[in-house]
Amino acid sequence: MYMKNKNIPLDELKNAVVKGRKNGCNELVLSGGEPTLYPNYITELIDLGKSLGYKKYIIQTNGYGLSQYDDLIAYIGNVAEDDDICISFSVHSHIASIHDDVSGNKGAFNNLSDAMNKIIKTNCKIYTNTVVNARNIDDLKDISAYLKKFNVSIMQFSIMHLKEENELSVSFTDAVKAIRELGCIVDNDILKTEGIPYCLLHGMEKCVGESAWPNSLDIYNETDNYLHDFKQLDYGMRKKMTSCDKCIMDKICMGVWKETYGEFSAMKIHPIM
Ligand code: SF4
Repeated sequence: MYMKNKNIPLDELKNAVVKGRKNGCNELVLSGGEPTLYPNYITELIDLGKSLGYKKYIIQTNGYGLSQYDDLIAYIGNVAEDDDICISFSVHSHIASIHDDVSGNKGAFNNLSDAMNKIIKTNCKIYTNTVVNARNIDDLKDISAYLKKFNVSIMQFSIMHLKEENELSVSFTDAVKAIRELGCIVDNDILKTEGIPYCLLHGMEKCVGESAWPNSLDIYNETDNYLHDFKQLDYGMRKKMTSCDKCIMDKICMGVWKETYGEFSAMKIHPIM
């Protein structure tokens, strides 16, 4: 559920939560924009989810609202006493000035670290996601060392997907290489990726983050409203090679972001037989 701004009335979000549960959804993910800007939305939607029998909650955040609203931390901590709740932090760097620059907000790193220090004292699980870019690609090992201090359950490093290249863009090949190098120093049960298919993670297949995604995904956002059984491949966000139909991973592989397909196809990768 994408809570990009308050243009989506709370009642519509609630209707989507009800619809999702009727469709068999077990996990409720609150994303953005920045969902913690609207703490009452979070509490009301999770309360509703609990009454409907959802089994897991994930809040994707830059940490802002968790650093500002102690009531929200207290609420989430209470939920975590009985329910599976994960806070997924977006981390651009372990260096404050870089994190602030990439996020475009001065003070963002202080808010992030404050929020993580608060959440670690609760029963919530901590997930992190770092999109690999030109400002952090040389620091992934240091970022992983910083994140280990927070006892993270999932440390994800993702391939960037932007419609157009910008000053943060890096090549797909370089990003894959940098992430692969983490395989030796981060527990592969914790290390996850996004946007890298199995054929490029030989020996690290368990790190393919998409393999942990639910089989079926319903999405609610401001633009498309409710999408049932949403698949990035069908929606044109991902691409695979024509030869992928010969690969033993074809059925579960989501391929690469369409923006990185040109580079990927030029690698002349052979399907896994
Ligand atoms: S299906 Fe295609 S993209 Fe996926 S692992 Fe196999 S060869 Fe790679």
